[in-house]
Amino acid sequence: MAETSVPVRTCVGCRERAPVTDLLRVVLRAGALVPDPRRRLPGRGASLHPTPECLRAAERRRAFPRALRLSGGSSAPVEAGPLRAHVLGATAPGEAPPGRANAHERQTAVPPTDRQPAGPHVESRTSSDESAVKSPR
Ligand SMILES: [Zn+2]
Repeated sequence: MAETSVPVRTCVGCRERAPVTDLLRVVLRAGALVPDPRRRLPGRGASLHPTPECLRAAERRRAFPRALRLSGGSSAPVEAGPLRAHVLGATAPGEAPPGRANAHERQTAVPPTDRQPAGPHVESRTSSDESAVKSPR
């Protein structure tokens, strides 16, 4: 029986014990939950399966503030953006770094003068729509 030398932590999402190599360490940095895949950041960390299910479960039961021993108030929500981006694969639109994702999809750049800075989006021009509007599929 080979005893594993890998420490075991409890996932704050599903509450199951797992080797730390299967879990993602999460630390709090400046009020935001950030992933620490290499487990090198200082401070108190929480362990989480890097899956959307466990992330949602942890958020739903507010496990992060508890695991990270935030100040007793626990009314201040923690910003989970960086962690979500890591776990969910940065599926949020507009978050992708430019210059990499446009190889397979040629996008016609909208000239800056074509955009109204503020106010309701009034579609008054229809003559040039068929070249500017393109369905993503
Ligand atoms: Zn889990």
